Amino acid sequence: MLKDEPNENGTGQENLYRHVPSLNNLLLGPNFQGLLGTHERSVVVQATRDELIAVKQQITSGQLSQHNLATYLDVLPDRVSERLQSRLRYSLRRVINATGVLLHTNLGRAPLSTSAIDHIADVAAGYSNLELDLETGERSHRDVHAESLVLDLLKMRTGLAGEEEQPRAVVVVNNCAAATFLALDAIARDRATIVSRGELVEIGGGFRIPEILAKSGAQLREVGTTNRTRTADYESAISPATGLILRVHQSNFSMEGFTERPLLADLVSLGRRACVPVFEDQGTGLLTSLAPQSFPAEETLLESYRQGVDLIAASGDKLLGGPQCGLLIGRTDLIERIRANPLLRAFRVDKLTYAALEATLIGYLSNEERSIPILRMLNIPAGEILERSERLADRVRSPELSAEVVSAVSVIGGGTTPRAKLQSYAVALRHGTSHCQDLLRSLRHLQVPVVGRICDDRVWLDLRTVEPELDETLAALLAELGGGSASSKQQA
Ligand SMILES: *Cc1c(COP(=O)(O)O)cnc(C)c1O
Repeated sequence: MLKDEPNENGTGQENLYRHVPSLNNLLLGPNFQGLLGTHERSVVVQATRDELIAVKQQITSGQLSQHNLATYLDVLPDRVSERLQSRLRYSLRRVINATGVLLHTNLGRAPLSTSAIDHIADVAAGYSNLELDLETGERSHRDVHAESLVLDLLKMRTGLAGEEEQPRAVVVVNNCAAATFLALDAIARDRATIVSRGELVEIGGGFRIPEILAKSGAQLREVGTTNRTRTADYESAISPATGLILRVHQSNFSMEGFTERPLLADLVSLGRRACVPVFEDQGTGLLTSLAPQSFPAEETLLESYRQGVDLIAASGDKLLGGPQCGLLIGRTDLIERIRANPLLRAFRVDKLTYAALEATLIGYLSNEERSIPILRMLNIPAGEILERSERLADRVRSPELSAEVVSAVSVIGGGTTPRAKLQSYAVALRHGTSHCQDLLRSLRHLQVPVVGRICDDRVWLDLRTVEPELDETLAALLAELGGGSASSKQQA
């Protein structure tokens, strides 16, 4: 076979290719005997082959000279070894969230309380009574581990204890999106669901209310307009075909100006009069009232419960501060229909989720809200963040790395409470020789990755979302960037 005419460059490359050892020869070398002793042969072969391909690609692209190539080949066994080790390294890692965004979906939303973590570890390590009634020895259902806690908590906090006019029940599923889908499928399939045009929203990650309705087989009956919908619009849309009134929390955007939306109470009483259940996709799971000075009135799960909404869906890992899950809380007859729906089997959660949820709810019930990290972070006074920031800035400042404390605003995020602004402070970093994008990247490559944000050409680290226990770790990690620590060499 004839090859392309070698040009000058090509001839040089041909030479270099000749210096690359064959796979078989490499594997016979002394360095590889150790690797073959500790790893599966096929895996070593594959990793070595991948490294050889990488070398040849570098030659092809002209990145390697004869001298470079020799050095590269010397470290080839190390590179293969590194490749083999990195396969076994965790992909999912703890990171330090210094973005100031409390609920960052990319960063796993709510951190769990210590009691939730302990309870997970205990339950995970052995067998559990997930679906066994220890009293009778009979089979039970897994929602017992959350149901009475959720209901007790809601009754206690709304003051409805003892004067409840209708029994309610709880189902836990994988997330709020699943909860909403399941509720629509179980209650409104092939029936009309009335929704305001102002609430036909996208929640995020492609979760769009009209599409979810369509998938569930519920028929969308739009009422009102984008900015104004009245109770009367719902009322005149009700017909014998109506299966549900859907209310969606406008969680990730806010509308101002000429707007109107019925009070939840009015929708609930309309539903009662017309015998149509009202379902609210509440979203946040908020169980406390947020400090009014920093928040415009935020709708809470408590308020929805107090108003007697027939069925409510909420997230477990937003402002509730628990594990990822979706709670469906509602009238017993509606929950029974949901329990009878075959999709529930596909959406149910595992024992670890119940363990974390149960511990989080007990934190609320025993008035230990400070044990719930998300609530603690929401309520840290700005002055405390200022002090911690100053301490951090003093620790990490170096000739290489400038660090200045600036006033900042933390947000809740995670598609919730877009208008809430929390006064905070940040340490603004600038590196003497690298651009802020590069500094941001270096932070992500520290031994414990640190995630910050860029503002005014500097990297800002907002300590509201950093656990105070991690301040010390953060300072030590940052010292490496400024060349302030001897361990930086090993790190690389
Ligand atoms: C966040 C949110 C959802 C989605 O919740 P997940 O738990 O992420 O599935 C649905 N509806 C509303 C109103 C939300 O705020």
